[in-house]
Amino acid sequence: MSPDTATVACPSCGGAVPQMDGPTHPYMESSPGCWHVFGEILEREYGNPAFAAQHRLTVDNFAVQHPGQPSSQSIQSVCLHLISLCLVLERGVAPAYATRVLSAAARDKQRFVWLTPPESLGVVTVADVRAVSSARDHTQRVRDWAESAWTAWSPHHETIRAWLPGEG
Ligand SMILES: [Zn+2]
Repeated sequence: MSPDTATVACPSCGGAVPQMDGPTHPYMESSPGCWHVFGEILEREYGNPAFAAQHRLTVDNFAVQHPGQPSSQSIQSVCLHLISLCLVLERGVAPAYATRVLSAAARDKQRFVWLTPPESLGVVTVADVRAVSSARDHTQRVRDWAESAWTAWSPHHETIRAWLPGEG
């Protein structure tokens, strides 16, 4: 992707992403360019362990900034990824531990409901993570992205906290 490729705002997260055709995720609805940039970020994380420290958050952030339309899959996805953000950002649990807790939380998925997405899903997006090159900046930017996305969902924080394991 050359730097002069035209950009367009993703209709879901608002990030400035390449204007292009291509595949998108079936329920994490985004523009093709946004899905493409997310793929680039995942490749960076899978290809170099130094970039992967916050991989758990990368996946959570993208999911909660692309909630899509109400369906059983999207409801489960958004709720679980918000639970993960809450565990990591508010409770300070290690990302790997959050992943284990999520598999337990997924067994109770019938309690999850559609949370109406906030008007803005956060000012930090995939585009900001793509823009940095060092592992240290990448890790910090993913963390900023998580804070931004989690804060955007604040109207639902109480609901999400009540879903944390042991508090439901
Ligand atoms: Zn997007």
